[in-house]
Amino acid sequence: MQTAEIRRRFLEHFAARGHTVVPSASLVSPDPSLLFTVAGMVPFIPYLTGREPAPYQRATSVQKCVRTLDIEEVGKTTRHGTFFQMNGNFSFGDYFKEGAIQYAWDLVTGPVADGGLGFDPETIWVTVYLDDDEAAEAWHRIAGLPAERIQRLGMEDNYWSTGAPGPAGPCSEIYVDRGPQFGPDGGPAVDRAGDRFLEIWNLVFMQYERGAGEGKDFPILGELPKKNIDTGMGLERVAFLLQGVDNMYEIDEVAPVLRRAADLAGVTYGKDHEADVRLRVVADHVRSGLMLIGDGVTPGNEGRGYILRRLLRRAVRSMKLLGVDEASLPELLPVSRDAMSASYPDLATDFARISSVAYAEEEAFRRTLASGTALFDTVVGQARKAGTPSLSGEQAFSLHDTYGFPIDVTLEMAAEQGVTVDEAGFRALMQQQRDRARADARAKRTGAVDVLAYRRLLAEHGPTDWLAYETLRTDSR
Ligand code: ATP
Ligand code: MG
Ligand code: MG
Ligand code: MG
Repeated sequence: MQTAEIRRRFLEHFAARGHTVVPSASLVSPDPSLLFTVAGMVPFIPYLTGREPAPYQRATSVQKCVRTLDIEEVGKTTRHGTFFQMNGNFSFGDYFKEGAIQYAWDLVTGPVADGGLGFDPETIWVTVYLDDDEAAEAWHRIAGLPAERIQRLGMEDNYWSTGAPGPAGPCSEIYVDRGPQFGPDGGPAVDRAGDRFLEIWNLVFMQYERGAGEGKDFPILGELPKKNIDTGMGLERVAFLLQGVDNMYEIDEVAPVLRRAADLAGVTYGKDHEADVRLRVVADHVRSGLMLIGDGVTPGNEGRGYILRRLLRRAVRSMKLLGVDEASLPELLPVSRDAMSASYPDLATDFARISSVAYAEEEAFRRTLASGTALFDTVVGQARKAGTPSLSGEQAFSLHDTYGFPIDVTLEMAAEQGVTVDEAGFRALMQQQRDRARADARAKRTGAVDVLAYRRLLAEHGPTDWLAYETLRTDSR
């Protein structure tokens, strides 16, 4: 089943059950406390917190998401993209736990001929929060799941809260068993890596009013007068299962880029683990770059622009490591556009602008690599002459700051030459620079900033601007 068809079925399933179909919001988060839209619920935050009345009681969407937090997983797990789409259904004080479970079960296991996704009910496992007997009973009653396939997990996995006083509540996650060839029995509670039991859908039951407290330590003040449902199903994850491929980088919306990259590099996908990871990184990052530029982000040195820059450069660098010296994006970006424009027609109509932004970034990076490499060689030569086969934090910092030479590239090239880098020193200097930038920004700020309640999301996924320095640093792994 094509990804676009799964998306269509999802929306239709919920539209037929009284949900208003809401178009995806931009990847540039509508919530000012987040850099990117990291989940389907982000555009609905004002309604979920009760800050604004919801214009509908039920809504459904397929939301474009970017999670830079997952970047290190890309290409190594089967299931983490920097860009992905989250199918969601939302209830604002309308149906609750039972309704959400019933709707999810009907879609997941409904026959394909009747608009369902056709998963074999025997392969479905779920998790519920430790004391959420209500959800466990509902799963048993509605889906007929045996007790062994309803597992209980704690706060870390199955509890949602903003991190601040306000709504909170248990979650229930739906998993698909991919079969014994992917790992031992035991369900998601045992398979923490998620290789065999793949999480496809998360149902959040916003049920309680919580009080103040640190971390997991807070009082429950009572039941919310209006309970909400927020769910998120990973479109790419469902697609990879239904398309019979091994991971989300091999689905119809992503694989064409992967194949083109392999062709350009003259390698056969599936032969060598390291090359495969690089190809998956390329396919993922090219798509994320396309979608981000499509939503108006342009490469830059901070915030969203920096994330975009790092994604594009990491894709280009990965191609270089695969042995391609020519510019890659003019070959890859149109392939990604063609794979994505069925669901996002603007990508085609706006492609002249999108591609010129992306290609200019690749050119700039190629120039940086060319000039920076000469400088890098000089610095290494000096270090060697001084009898210290090591680059100082200052040297790495100046390569980064003055010549735009990313630390991951410095580290990798240094390793190739048998030279070490004072990475801790580099990071300390980066931190100082960041602190200065923050202080400047604080000084510049004029009006009051609208800080919203969803601090847990913020803590988990943002503020992604500076996190990038920690998370976007390894090209080659
Ligand atoms: P995981 O535990 O696999 O990292 P999660 O629990 O962090 O997933 P949620 O925050 O519950 O994910 O998001 C809802 C759904 O969105 C998940 O059930 C999954 O199907 C999908 N999803 C989450 N992160 C990604 C990602 N990086 N790439 C693709 N799909 C994702
Ligand atoms: Mg995750
Ligand atoms: Mg999870
Ligand atoms: Mg989850």
